[in-house]
Amino acid sequence: MPLNLPEGKRLAISVGADFDAHSVWHGTFRSVSQTDLSRGEFGAMVGVPRLLNTLAQRGITTTWCIPTHTIQTFRPQVDAIVEHGHEIAAHGVYHEYVPKLELDEERRLLELQLRQHEELLGRRPQGYRSPALDVTPVTLDLLAELDFEWDSSLMGRDVTPYRPRMVEKIDFEQGNTFGPPSRVLELPVSWTLDDFPELETFKGNALMQSADALLRRWTDTFNFAYERCPGGMLAFIVHPQTIGRPANLLMLERFLDHVATHDGVWFATLTQIFECWSDSEPGPVKSSQEDHPFPM
Ligand SMILES: [Zn+2]
Repeated sequence: MPLNLPEGKRLAISVGADFDAHSVWHGTFRSVSQTDLSRGEFGAMVGVPRLLNTLAQRGITTTWCIPTHTIQTFRPQVDAIVEHGHEIAAHGVYHEYVPKLELDEERRLLELQLRQHEELLGRRPQGYRSPALDVTPVTLDLLAELDFEWDSSLMGRDVTPYRPRMVEKIDFEQGNTFGPPSRVLELPVSWTLDDFPELETFKGNALMQSADALLRRWTDTFNFAYERCPGGMLAFIVHPQTIGRPANLLMLERFLDHVATHDGVWFATLTQIFECWSDSEPGPVKSSQEDHPFPM
């Protein structure tokens, strides 16, 4: 279902930043290596100001998903992000690996990060992105219970928000069974739109690929959505410690400049995109192309 985008807008683009700093190394990769932690420090000290500059030069405000560990460890950088007018969303306490959490611990960490956002930043986040983009079967229920409006961790669509359903029963022989749709709106993501898997390495594993290959994939994805999916959205994810490296930042700038040459592109925060969603019949979307339904 298309979004009710602002007048004259054709496609919503979120180039959101996940500002993990140290936390991704000890939370997701179980590493307290000083070298790995220094990569997180680079993200804070160098990556954040570079990315803020790139976005400000293009008049882009976006959503930064930030673990509360980062807010406490790199407070001046988070203050700078807020001063630039960006949205802050929840992204865990210490980049905990959510699928391994027991229910009580998952609930405790969600409640703790909400309290810490309120204490440290003076406001409650409207949305959540799971650290490492993974959830448990009860995460969406907990988010709804705690009054989150949106989640941005799942991959069941690509250019349109949706009401996600958990797979309640996995049966290899008789087929799986979905639970009911969540009250929390999913703003879908994809590893293909994330800079980290393509551009990073860990303990010598050769994950790093060419930034040009990523630019080509992102450009093709944008071109497809712009031409064929009016009223849609795309959520890209960049990490200051990754995209802040010179070759990667130049790639991002080339991509943003390509996107910006297209009429009707709307660079938006994830909450702004959420606010364009209606479960009822949407208004007309202006388009010179063949319209809906979206290619699946
Ligand atoms: Zn993260």
